[in-house]
Parts: sequence; C-alpha cells; structure tokens
Amino acid sequence: MLKYLKYFLIIFTVIIFFNSCSTVPITGRSQLDLIPDNEMLSMSFQQYDQFLKDNKESTNQQQTTIVKKVGERVAKAVEQYFTQNNLAQQLQGYKWEFHIIDSKEVNAWCMPGGKVVVYTGILPITKTEAGLAVVLGHEIAHAVAKHGNERMSQAMIAQLGGVALSQALKEKPALTQNIFMTAFGIGTQVGVLLPFSRLQESEADHLGLIFMAMAGYNPNEALDFWQRMASAQNGQAPPEFLSDHPSDQTRIEKIKNEIPEAMKYYNK
Ligand SMILES: [Zn+2]
Repeated sequence: MLKYLKYFLIIFTVIIFFNSCSTVPITGRSQLDLIPDNEMLSMSFQQYDQFLKDNKESTNQQQTTIVKKVGERVAKAVEQYFTQNNLAQQLQGYKWEFHIIDSKEVNAWCMPGGKVVVYTGILPITKTEAGLAVVLGHEIAHAVAKHGNERMSQAMIAQLGGVALSQALKEKPALTQNIFMTAFGIGTQVGVLLPFSRLQESEADHLGLIFMAMAGYNPNEALDFWQRMASAQNGQAPPEFLSDHPSDQTRIEKIKNEIPEAMKYYNK
C-alpha cells in the first residue's frame, strides 16, 4: 500500500509541476510558476501602496517627469511586444505606475502588475533618459518574465512546504511578506533568500535591451550605463544587484553580443 502511495505522490508532484510551469517570452525558458497571477497582483498592489506610504517621494518635478516619461515609453513597448506575440493575456490586470523615492540607495524595482519604484540614488548613474531606460527595461523585464513569481514559488516550497499564498498569508504573514519583498529585490538587506538568480539577471538584461530599443532608446547606451554602474559600485553592489549576478565584465560582454538582435527592434 505504501509503495502505491509513493508512486501516487510522485505522479501527483509531476502533474502539479507541469501544470505550474510557464514560458519566459523571448528566451523561451520554462519556469516554475506556482502562485496564481491574481493572488500575485493583489499582494503586489497592497505591498506597493504600503511601500509608498512608508517612504518619502521625491518632490523634484523634473526627476518625476523624466521617470514617468521613460517608464511609460518602456511600458508601451512591452505591451506592444506582448500584443504582437499573442501574449497580451499575460499582462492582464497590469496597472502601470511609476514613483520616485527620495533615497541614497542605488536601486529600482518593478513589482508584478507594473508597479515601479526608482530611487533618486540611482539617477547620477543613469544620467540620461537612455540610461534610465536601461534600468527600467531591466526591472520591468523581471516583472513581465515573472521572475518574482518563480523566485517566490521556490521559496514557498523551501520555507513553507508549498502551501497556497493565501494560506501562508494567514498563518505566517510576516514571513510571507518578507519572502515577497525579497523575491522582488526590495529592502536593503539580504533576507531569507537572495533576490534574483544569475540566469534571471541575464534574462532581464536581454529582454530589457529589446524593450528599451522598441521604446526608442539606442541599446548601445546600455554598455555605457553598465560601465558607469561598475565604476560607481566600488566593490559594493546595490541592493537589486546583491543577487547572484554575473561579474560586471561578463555582463557587459554578454550585453555586447545581444545588441545586434536588439538593434532589429530599435525604433529610432
Ligand atoms: Zn535585476
């Protein structure tokens, strides 16, 4: 009897696994995706509003205008890409929002549903609109490629035995929220797990290049931005990049190789 139970569990797990996979646009990689989109979005919208309440927004009108302008252009490009590739359904429920937080932290992120935050501390490194488009393209790529869901699914299995998100929120709200925040590269400390994997970082670079190009920014500018980021770091990586990211030089080389592909999308 036990033997059958074991087989049953294996088959059950395999079925769950294959029903819980999705495919990353552009790269075609298949990924674990346990948390339903609607649960992810409602958690995201809630955490985003809370974050904006707890943090001070920049009052610099010029900075705010530029972040919104570049953000909206990149978001439009993403929507265009998804529509052209019959993936528009994946962006269902997205409500794009761009806010800029007064903070020395060199950071930016995008939660599921298009909820973006840029920290003023990253602006001296982005410098230009195209530099900002590199960062926004990269962060939005993490969100639309469902990297947070993937990361969170892994953490939910490891730390909570794969229970449903709603149940986890009821039973262990602090831990669940912590997993969520860390899965999206928010917060200054490496908490329960590292934010994004090396593979996800490279994927976000790749997708981000295409999105920025479609938004009308020259993808070659990504090389300048990552050079500036490398020299600004002084050996210390900013929070979103605390993850297992490739070394600066490897990253820049990889981006260089992807530029010809992105140039095909460049909307001058
Ligand atoms: Zn990243």
